[in-house]
Amino acid sequence: MALKALDIFKNLPKTNCKKCGNPTCLAFAMKLAQKKASLDECPDVSEAGKAALEGASVPPIHLVTIGSGSNSLKIGNETVMFRHEETFYHPPGIAVCIKDDADNIEAAVEKVANLKFHRVGTDIKVDVIAISNTSGDSSKFKAAVEAANSKNLTIVLMSDSTENLAAALEICAPNKPLIHAANKNNWEAYAKLAKDYKCPLAVKIDDPENMAELPAKIKNAGVEDLVLDVTADSFSKTLQILTAIRRLSLKKALPGIGYPCMTFTTGDDPYFSVSQAVTYISKYSGIVVTELDEPEHILPMLTTIMNIFTDPRKPIQVESKLYEIGAVTEESPVLVTTNFSLTYYTVEGEVEASRIPAFICVIDTEGTSVLTAFAADKLTTDAIAAMLISSKIADKIKHKKVIIPGYVAAMSGGLQEDSGWEVLVGPREASGIPKYLKTVWK
Ligand code: SF4
Repeated sequence: MALKALDIFKNLPKTNCKKCGNPTCLAFAMKLAQKKASLDECPDVSEAGKAALEGASVPPIHLVTIGSGSNSLKIGNETVMFRHEETFYHPPGIAVCIKDDADNIEAAVEKVANLKFHRVGTDIKVDVIAISNTSGDSSKFKAAVEAANSKNLTIVLMSDSTENLAAALEICAPNKPLIHAANKNNWEAYAKLAKDYKCPLAVKIDDPENMAELPAKIKNAGVEDLVLDVTADSFSKTLQILTAIRRLSLKKALPGIGYPCMTFTTGDDPYFSVSQAVTYISKYSGIVVTELDEPEHILPMLTTIMNIFTDPRKPIQVESKLYEIGAVTEESPVLVTTNFSLTYYTVEGEVEASRIPAFICVIDTEGTSVLTAFAADKLTTDAIAAMLISSKIADKIKHKKVIIPGYVAAMSGGLQEDSGWEVLVGPREASGIPKYLKTVWK
């Protein structure tokens, strides 16, 4: 568990000397607890204090880097079970699995590299590819790895043959692929491979009753960067193991188990596989490997990652300003909304769908949606009236009409008085915007 500020404070000199740039030792302890400072910023902490704090601050889940440079995936080093307790820091990778006996490897790899989407103002994409040596043939495996290595993708190498893996590693070892997978029968040869090529190693957890034994043996053999493959014979069992490992790691209750996990989706029904993937993403899998490669299957997985791996204390926001959607004119409508990203991009999407160019006046409501902002007094007549002035929208249009969301119809009279604008009440839901603009506005 992460150390609390008071536990840290007990091990500091308590002289409030300010050498660390903080007014008191307690202020420094609070920053350390929030991971906003480093212990070596205090020059006077005793050796005993250092030992206590450094020992206790070893991350409960080892941080593993797969891939190299800007193309790397960092997984692990999480500190909480539930996102509302703090935040989740390292988003998992979705690894699309390509079999090396596929008809057209180049096209299959290209398809994975093109799984890119733009959602609520952010680019999201698949950035891991798993190459499976299904053929058992070294030259086919190498050809597939070569194709994957030429793209900007992190690689998982999957083979039962250490010879074939070694041949593939000659091609891509500098890009630090994840080698999959050591098990209780082959672990010594796989550990040697990981050590020789300085690559992370996946470890198959076949015996959930004795989960820490194999990772401990491999660590003792000199391989530190491990990823536990916990895929079991059923969906529910896999979920149980994922949850157990996270809980045991955070409590430091089972030495040797503190590593990130990986899982595989199974089954022939793609929608069942998508359900598996989003469940594993939500419950602690660091990599989810899937054979699905269609955009409609991958987008829900990436969307889940995007939703979960944000800081729940900081809503995703867009800049509060006047946006022009399409080729606006002096006759274009002016809509008001809030700066919560999901709200803004939903409104923007519907305005685009209407094919009627419009201005969107975005009010700073600290990233809250329309009803929440209204209830919290963040979407007020004053705020909208002030935005209509500061945005200088009046210089760009001939009319003086503003459309407010239907949910805040109650403020229309007050806003008309405060702003001097004619206030029109728009639809409650953004989905009603196209019809509203085409009928009521026209
Ligand atoms: Fe306290 Fe160390 Fe900071 Fe001085 S430098 S205020 S002793 S934490």
